[in-house]
Amino acid sequence: MKLISKKLNTPLAYLKGVGAQKADMLQKELGVSTFGQYLLQFPFRYEDRSTQYAIKDAQSEKVSIRLKGVIISKEIIKGQRNRRMVCIMKDPSGFVELIWFKGIAIMDRIIQVNTAYYAYGKVKNFKGKKSIVHPELESVAEAKSKLQSDFAPVYPSTEKLTNRGLDNRVRRNIASMILGELHPNDIPEVLPSYLIKKYKLISRFQAIKCMHLPNNEQEMQAAGRRIKFEELFFFQLQAMLNKVERQVKFKGFVFEKVGEHFNQFFKHHLPFELTNAQKRVIKEIRADLGKGNQMNRLLQGDVGSGKTIVSLLACLLAIDNGFQSCIMAPTEILAQQHYASIGESLKEMDLKVAFLSGSVKGKKRATILEELANGEIDILIGTHALIEDPVQFKNLGLAITDEQHRFGVKQRSKLWRKSKVHPPHILVMTATPIPRTLAMTVYGDLDVSVIDELPPGRKAVQTVHKTEAKRTEILRFMKAEIDKGRQIYVVYPLIDESETLDLQDLNNGYERILDYFPRPHYQISMVHGRMKPADKDWEMQRFVKGETNIMVATTVIEVGVNVPNASVMIIENSERFGLSQLHQLRGRVGRGAEQSYCILATGYKLSKEAKERIATMVRTTDGFEIAEADMRLRGPGNIDGTQQSGVLDLALVNLTKDQAILNVARQEAQHIIELDPSLTTEKNATLKEYILRLGPRFKSWGKIS
Ligand code: ADP
Ligand code: MG
Repeated sequence: MKLISKKLNTPLAYLKGVGAQKADMLQKELGVSTFGQYLLQFPFRYEDRSTQYAIKDAQSEKVSIRLKGVIISKEIIKGQRNRRMVCIMKDPSGFVELIWFKGIAIMDRIIQVNTAYYAYGKVKNFKGKKSIVHPELESVAEAKSKLQSDFAPVYPSTEKLTNRGLDNRVRRNIASMILGELHPNDIPEVLPSYLIKKYKLISRFQAIKCMHLPNNEQEMQAAGRRIKFEELFFFQLQAMLNKVERQVKFKGFVFEKVGEHFNQFFKHHLPFELTNAQKRVIKEIRADLGKGNQMNRLLQGDVGSGKTIVSLLACLLAIDNGFQSCIMAPTEILAQQHYASIGESLKEMDLKVAFLSGSVKGKKRATILEELANGEIDILIGTHALIEDPVQFKNLGLAITDEQHRFGVKQRSKLWRKSKVHPPHILVMTATPIPRTLAMTVYGDLDVSVIDELPPGRKAVQTVHKTEAKRTEILRFMKAEIDKGRQIYVVYPLIDESETLDLQDLNNGYERILDYFPRPHYQISMVHGRMKPADKDWEMQRFVKGETNIMVATTVIEVGVNVPNASVMIIENSERFGLSQLHQLRGRVGRGAEQSYCILATGYKLSKEAKERIATMVRTTDGFEIAEADMRLRGPGNIDGTQQSGVLDLALVNLTKDQAILNVARQEAQHIIELDPSLTTEKNATLKEYILRLGPRFKSWGKIS
């Protein structure tokens, strides 16, 4: 079956009314150049224009509304800094100014005075004078001839597109023209007919048409449902197929023995009793390593849930089977902490653990490289320096990366090549918990293990919200805690765009704290991203060793640092942090036996979302609950790690809201793969063909690039 008709490959420029220039713009800004590609750029929402307002009733509103009137004047006004075009529109109830700062030439050409228009936009009412900046405009006559629907598509756009007049109305019209040229057979069905029947889905052609031009709400919803189902179904089918392929293609080292080192450590050197969750996860890893397939496993566990010991035990399994292993962390500080704690745990055992980062140089480095190559080193811990080309292992059997979202797909694939016979087993650890069904979708071809239990005896961090007015109160509280022997973090946001400003915030904060906590009685560290790594480390180490009482820092300390004596985390301008970041930061305290505190300091004015973020933090310390709230607030596309790594590329689906569709689509995909793991049967030929055509939309986590 042909899945793509010639028609769909027609260049957009061939469409009357688009022309070379607009086609070029669409290609540059959206990457679409054919009919088919254009149609797959769906609107992300619709505006309900079914109600029309009288101008006198239009007040300053947050949402766009529709007005109808006659444009009675048009004037281009030259201001000091810019030009603007102002049209006055009148209806029986009053007047409204329509204003353009951009695209003036185009609008000037289009707008006819003394003609009736619909104007659509957000009205501003300033002392009774009403205006809309950059409204969408459509002549009443034109709208009539087209029988416009009340649901107007709103497309993802860019500033350039809007400035060049390719606004939502024009975009919709292009879609309409394309659809007018197509026959339903030009967009063939790709889903098996039994699924279409079972879930009462509309056809693919119909769905694509209704996405752009829904006649009513029912059509809009039916189209959305069908497209989402399709998207999730193929996304998962593709992931499952990848996994099957990987297992066929890449055999793994078989770690069949649980040997001397593992047992010795387990019996004599475990520093604490493992939690049930840790035990379960170790079992899962052990089973996986013994199967003969290459392991590709994601280990999720909230901050402080004890992932390090799990990674250490996995390394011991590798050693017992004659292999080396490595642990890679995203920052020098974190890597060093791993090195210190693992070194400490293994000090009674006859094993060689080494550290490697960019700062290890000269003779030291040469020795390490040599001992790696001849197999003397059992475990190598370090930063991404581990994956550089000169680093050669004798036989790397297991590669662990901590805080995986900091590493890109490319870096991971380099790890794969560090081993010759088979790729090493891979364990990626993350403290950014996401719900399990979602994890299975996002990390489709990884297996997922979860540590869903904290070690016993942890006291939940007490979290409070304080506004600026409480500054003295906060300082007093800090003093009391320091006098009890505790250490304190004070964290400032650092966001690229306003780095200078933020740095000033940080410096001011530092000065203020110095005032209140004078030397030499108190010692204060300061760390930020603009410092040289060596200086940063030195300052950090002073705090880790307990030589300083307060650590004033930007988010460079976010990841993994473990200072059990630090019991207070103060987050300044906390409204500027995302939920998962706040959670990570808070995870820096509450690691020791003492009651810990987190103070979220904010200004007075908070957006609705900021309020909700703060309230969530105050309400709960459960990472999963926080992740869910985060998704609700931001949408899953923004979950840390999924976006940066480019794994999640779903056009329409909202993974939180569309859980129900996600679940059935997953079940159906699974069912098909169970019966026909590589989709080789005739029955599944269309599916396979379509998946191949979809190409790299799904970026496999496990694939060598
Ligand atoms: P994370 O999952 O954030 O990497 P860590 O592995 O750093 O967590 O563990 C956090 C702290 O909890 C460490 O001080 C560690 O020694 C301790 N810990 C881990 N597992 C247990 C356990 N089962 N019982 C008691 N303490 C534990
Ligand atoms: Mg950790």
